[in-house]
Amino acid sequence: MATPEFQHTLGKTAGFSGTSLHTGEKVSLKVHPAPADHGVKFKRKDLQDEPTIDAKIDNLKMVERATTIGEGSVRVHTVEHVLAALSAMGVDNAVVEMDANEPPIGDGSARPYVDVIKRAGVTAQEAPRRFFDVREPMHVESKTGALLVLLPDDKFRISCTQAGPNNRFTQYLSMEITPTIFEREIAPARTFVYYEDVEPLMEKNLIKGGSLENAVVVRGEAVLSKEPLRFEDEFVRHKILDVVGDLALTGCRIRGHLIAVKPGHAANAELARALAREQVRRSALAVPRSIPRGDGGLDSEQIMQILPHRYPFLMVDRIISFEEGGTKCIGLKTVTINEPFFQGHFPGHPVMPGVMQVEAMAQVASLLLFKLAKTTSKIGYFMSADDVKFRKPVFPGDTMFIHAELTKHRGERLAKAKCHCVVNDAVVSEGELMFTFLDK
Ligand SMILES: [Zn+2]
Repeated sequence: MATPEFQHTLGKTAGFSGTSLHTGEKVSLKVHPAPADHGVKFKRKDLQDEPTIDAKIDNLKMVERATTIGEGSVRVHTVEHVLAALSAMGVDNAVVEMDANEPPIGDGSARPYVDVIKRAGVTAQEAPRRFFDVREPMHVESKTGALLVLLPDDKFRISCTQAGPNNRFTQYLSMEITPTIFEREIAPARTFVYYEDVEPLMEKNLIKGGSLENAVVVRGEAVLSKEPLRFEDEFVRHKILDVVGDLALTGCRIRGHLIAVKPGHAANAELARALAREQVRRSALAVPRSIPRGDGGLDSEQIMQILPHRYPFLMVDRIISFEEGGTKCIGLKTVTINEPFFQGHFPGHPVMPGVMQVEAMAQVASLLLFKLAKTTSKIGYFMSADDVKFRKPVFPGDTMFIHAELTKHRGERLAKAKCHCVVNDAVVSEGELMFTFLDK
């Protein structure tokens, strides 16, 4: 690899207004610069407290017709075109602010977003870019006939086949995705729909903003649109656009060759999830096997100066390291047969209780928060645990690596952390924890 690539953000704020596809209302969108390692976040300017939603695959809510992400009860719909434009134009960090629950649909392509990004400018930041290098073939296949295969490559390439009902409008295109190629060959390709699919939606008035100005409608052999086709193979180009946007939810740049046969949002999202899982697996593998004391982490004495927990309830032996400006850390717990809970859970069949793993995550997350807040005069109370999953049993003799990443940190009162525990290179449990802080 020649020079390391750096993360990029926008040079300044820029925006435009238009119509929202589903409600038909006027919406304005602004893209703002954001710091390194921030990623892309959507901000709902129209809601109280202006909540933000991380453009991450974990926040994916719906994949029908368009890609919807959300956190809590807040949603943003139809994010794929703006995400495709940001990612392909080389923007790693940005805030996309909107005063509605979806971006302006524009002409149904990614061109308006590319234009706004070019007006804002793209500038380099100091942190290195995060890449996902495809090391071995990965694939997902759906019941609807979508097949996505990712192969090793030193560039990001897509070879895509699109096929309509009865294989009408079968089109094929293969290209590398670079800002120049995306802007010229992919961004202008508009959304296309089959008349039989949109007719019921029009009847229910679910696409109030939909018109022949922002989509190409295929009815039988006929192609209806206000403007003639922009490319003979405009449909496959739009499929590539959607794939780029959906894969941007992985939060990293892919070095690999994607073979996409009849891709759709559901299959694209499934591949993005597989990539995210593989990233977690690799980060688990990156943990050193021999862990020296006092090497940027915390030993058990230092942990007990911060946490009030004691035997038999201290669930972390050591913090190996803090990373990325203190928003991530990895703790270690050696699980031995002497743990008191093994006596009753279960006699003759010792398995570490899942709730004790959640407790371990909570303790590691608390250490992270105290380190960040630089105070021990407060005590953190565990408020909720969401999306908790126990994937594999933990046995005596296992070494558990407890990963915690701070995802929200509002003042010093509320904090959210995403956590997972890893044993033998496999995720054994995960969850998203929320804390509040009170004076001791
Ligand atoms: Zn699309």
